[in-house]
Amino acid sequence: MDEELKKEIRKMALQNAFEHGGQTQDKIILGKILGTKPEFRTKVKEITGDISEIVANVNQLSSEEQKKEIEENFPEILVPKEKIEGRVGLPELEGAEQGKVVTRFTPEPNGYPHIGHAKAVIISSEYAKMYGGKFILRMDDTNPEVERMEYHAAIKVGLEWLGIEWDEEKQTSDDMEIFYEKCIELLNSGRAYVCTCKRDNISKNRRERKACKCSMGDIDKNNKNWEKMKKKFKPGDAIVRFRGDMKADNAVMRDPVLFRIIDESHYTLGKKYRIWPSYDMSVAIEDSISGVTHALRSKEFELRKELIYAILDALNMRKPYQGFFSRLEFKGMPMSKRLIKPLIEEGKVSWYDDPRLPTLEALKRRGIRPEAIKKFIMSLGLTKADTLAPFDALEAFNRKVVDAESTRLFMVSNARKLTVKNLPISSVEIPNHPINDMGKRKIEIDGNFYISGDDAQNIKQGMQIRLLGLGNVSITKAGTEFEGDFIGDGETTNILKIQWVSQKTAHKIKMIIPKVLFIGEEFNEESLEELDVYTEPHYLQLKEGEEIQFVRFGYCRKDSQNQAIFTHK
Ligand SMILES: [Zn+2]
Repeated sequence: MDEELKKEIRKMALQNAFEHGGQTQDKIILGKILGTKPEFRTKVKEITGDISEIVANVNQLSSEEQKKEIEENFPEILVPKEKIEGRVGLPELEGAEQGKVVTRFTPEPNGYPHIGHAKAVIISSEYAKMYGGKFILRMDDTNPEVERMEYHAAIKVGLEWLGIEWDEEKQTSDDMEIFYEKCIELLNSGRAYVCTCKRDNISKNRRERKACKCSMGDIDKNNKNWEKMKKKFKPGDAIVRFRGDMKADNAVMRDPVLFRIIDESHYTLGKKYRIWPSYDMSVAIEDSISGVTHALRSKEFELRKELIYAILDALNMRKPYQGFFSRLEFKGMPMSKRLIKPLIEEGKVSWYDDPRLPTLEALKRRGIRPEAIKKFIMSLGLTKADTLAPFDALEAFNRKVVDAESTRLFMVSNARKLTVKNLPISSVEIPNHPINDMGKRKIEIDGNFYISGDDAQNIKQGMQIRLLGLGNVSITKAGTEFEGDFIGDGETTNILKIQWVSQKTAHKIKMIIPKVLFIGEEFNEESLEELDVYTEPHYLQLKEGEEIQFVRFGYCRKDSQNQAIFTHK
């Protein structure tokens, strides 16, 4: 064995031992060598002796000695370690080689991007990063009936907000000429045919696993019909079908559609084309020609894997690895347009940025941070089990992000008046954050306060309460309005400690509290609560979009000078 290889083996053994408490094993190192140097797969016998010797030698060293040798001879081992720790959540990708992985995200511009898109794009782009590869954004735009520039733009805005970077951007429709070439190739090899049956008959034959008369048609006739699809046929008169297997148990394989006629104008190409490839056709060709090594998508596409490979085999084209992950939806927050669109039309939901929805626009408006979405999705990893996540799973990640930077403010809802006598001061300074240095704010006070209705219910005559940041007050009168005497420092335990707002500078805002949109299949008529509340004038100084923690209430995002949206507790 040459010295280079021995050095390589020693490096692997040291790294593995160092990462596993000082010990490694022959078979682990052999596996690693064969994984990175396939030329040794036929020479296993020749290298096992040397591996055993090196492993035994490394195992005899103390952890300190192993570390010292790594630092001296293989310092690169210690550097990428941190990177590996950053990869939490995603398992190794089958057949992935460092520097050679190409992944893609292929949204169809037929709606606003939502949490499901976020999962797909984060997984694919993170894998490209993990392997130092390339990530492609490809708009899957071959159904002009439902696709719009508005959605195309919204998807890009959403991805930018998530902090996604792509190395290459294209539209599936850039390659229409290639799809047509491939179609003719399939027609000429007899792997595809033009079917002119009625839609109902096609479905019936599919159910009964019977081929139609068109599948017997000769190549000339298929080519002529293909030409007719360009002008003469009307939409629905003819489709191009892949010659799959009408008897297959996987219904996807029963001579599926490859091309159909759509007369609507395409949002970038206009009326240049009227025969459009199906998803299966375009995704198969695109992934193959654009060098995608790992095509990852949600698992409802799993049955299409067989078809995509069959199309590529029929065309003698390179086949990428296809991987699947579960769809992500939040419980009570469905994203289907079938459910959302009527609600918008009826005015029950304001728009796609309504904070009850799981669109990226809505999540942003509600105060969910992109870094929290990313951490949450990475924590789910590649599991294929369906994820109907409760929203509070995401909230936990978000809270960690916003807590450190949210200004603490007082806010009262269902306000009651409290008049305090003997107040010795006319202003008070309160820190904007209990721990972090985020400055202080000065509040003018004159003894006339608002307190929350919920707190008022618990206040009785004769008791002491504490106005947070100010001091204790002894209550002399309770009822619809309250009066008390200022005491200052007094009882601190077992005392009601409440937030307050000074009446003379109180700023009224609307508080929007989003709740689950659907309970089961039913729209929740009480899914949006609106409260008129008072807060401090400091609210006006905050930037739009800033996150606030209203003390004893929860985290909220400033939507405008007059409106805030409840993010979560
Ligand atoms: Zn037919």
